[in-house]
Amino acid sequence: MALLVVEDDPRIASFLVKGLAAEGYATAVAADGDEALHRLGLEQPELVLLDLGLPGTSGEDVLRELRRRAPALPVIILTARGEVEDKVRGLDLGATDYVTKPFVFAELLARVRAALRTAGQRVPTELVVGDLRLDLLTKVAWRAGRRIELSPREWSLLELLMRHPTHVLSRARIANEVFGYDFDPGSNVVDVYVGYLRRKLNLPGEPPLIKTVRGAGYRFVAP
Ligand code: CA
Repeated sequence: MALLVVEDDPRIASFLVKGLAAEGYATAVAADGDEALHRLGLEQPELVLLDLGLPGTSGEDVLRELRRRAPALPVIILTARGEVEDKVRGLDLGATDYVTKPFVFAELLARVRAALRTAGQRVPTELVVGDLRLDLLTKVAWRAGRRIELSPREWSLLELLMRHPTHVLSRARIANEVFGYDFDPGSNVVDVYVGYLRRKLNLPGEPPLIKTVRGAGYRFVAP
């Protein structure tokens, strides 16, 4: 479990690192915002403790950039006592939680544990039906261990079908969810894309994964 502490006060940083190490967390420190963003790429932390009052790139800018790069990464902001606006701004910018300085270490630990727990329960990173697997983070599909390259539309269509196994999805619903408002109801774009997907997904000798239900739409059949 790797944590990143972004804190310009060396005493607080060292206190945090020692305390967190004693609890079994491997912890890296960044003393300013630029270093924080640099380390974020290097260490791929599972949680960030972020001081908002930083020299150079502000804690808020770090948070903004961090949210852009890693929307699901838990971030606990550290704010000085009484700076209510800081907390509000931090939470509005997407912080998971905050701890007020000076803090009791046990409370900080409890918040770290809670944030990690919640992050662990967050949306699954893959969708698996039979031998078909969608990696929801990298948007890569695999069938029976074979990587399948999909266009963004093919990907959305497959995800929609896999999330509703055994349901018959009408062309209108698929069109609406996958192709959005610019969909022309007279077009056969849904059938065309189902055709693309079938060619990519079907294995010789195996039953097709996407069945046509005459007059109704399409149904995904688990492999
Ligand atoms: Ca500071």
